[in-house]
Amino acid sequence: MLADISDPTVKQLRSKITQIMRAIRAQTPPLASMALASTAKGSEIWEGCIDGESIKRVVIYLRSSGCSWAMKPSSDGTPVFKAGCLDCEHSVAGTTFGRAIPAATYVKQFEKEFVKYQDYSEYPMLCVYNEGSMLNEAELPAEARRDILKLIAENKNIKSVILESLPEYITEPILDEARTILGDKYLEVGVGLESCDPMVRHLAINKPFTLQQFEETAKLIRKYCHLLSYILVKPSFLTEKEALQDSLNTVQYAFDVGSDVVSIEPLNIGEYAMSGALNRLGLYRVPWLWTVLEVAKKSHTLGETRLGGYQFAPKYENFAQNCPNCTLRVKEAIVQYNSTNDIAHLTGLTCSCQDEWREELNKDYPYIVDRVQQYVELLGKEYL
Ligand SMILES: [Zn+2]
Repeated sequence: MLADISDPTVKQLRSKITQIMRAIRAQTPPLASMALASTAKGSEIWEGCIDGESIKRVVIYLRSSGCSWAMKPSSDGTPVFKAGCLDCEHSVAGTTFGRAIPAATYVKQFEKEFVKYQDYSEYPMLCVYNEGSMLNEAELPAEARRDILKLIAENKNIKSVILESLPEYITEPILDEARTILGDKYLEVGVGLESCDPMVRHLAINKPFTLQQFEETAKLIRKYCHLLSYILVKPSFLTEKEALQDSLNTVQYAFDVGSDVVSIEPLNIGEYAMSGALNRLGLYRVPWLWTVLEVAKKSHTLGETRLGGYQFAPKYENFAQNCPNCTLRVKEAIVQYNSTNDIAHLTGLTCSCQDEWREELNKDYPYIVDRVQQYVELLGKEYL
């Protein structure tokens, strides 16, 4: 029988998942030294596309005190883990485990990474992430946010800026201020929608906001800038077939409620995340790249999409993949797509492993709630 998220069985299941997830997070190694708080997690260059033109973008990852949804503030650095989004490991890993980072330290982190890329005419798009919510002032103090945005505003070669936040921290005054500081730069605010299915959001992802909240935030963001929605392909507990259908539905929904851009993100396995725990028990395989391509091809006419899933380091087996014969070829095609938005790069790709993928799509599995219940029992034996 189909269940509703308000059913007592589902509620109990969610509470058990929360306990297990906290136990999984508790194994996350702490920072080697608190001195690292003045150093960003890192930065890298990705491909991108602005108005049909291939560009490079710089992505800066600030080191934070931890995402508020995955971790409570802690004055002495003793971590108090929350469940958070089940497949998000970086919300906690590499952070100060809840110990606040002063505004000036954040600005220092940013400056040190920012100056590594001297000529931004080569990198007209800049993404600044704090592995949580850039607009949550408990994570990133307002002074730090303003100073960082001012530094970006001063660089005339940067045309486009991307920030991310949970909806609850996206307020009118903050958007208005960011808009004013950045002047005429293109600004995207990214929100992790992940799925539009209430049961998937509830059990398989553990999102902290409802679709109604998302829709209200979408309207607010669009008043000041552009909305980027992230879609998670194959959250923990989902089968390949469910994942494909869920992502297709979610991309459609994301555009229907006003997303300017949708980023289709296949899940990467995190050692200290639900996917890692399930994978070790043989209960989770990363999404097939064929699934990712199918979502991209069927959604292409709906609006601008970007694709994840081309990463392969450091652990190849933790990223979306097909078979060893075609995985790198398909990943390269994804990079080409992201640089051009030209869907031709994703059509016509074939490999004999597609038969195996189709076979998986046709397999029958127990109903999601019954299946999650079975998996949770097995996880409970490991973690509780
Ligand atoms: Zn293959």
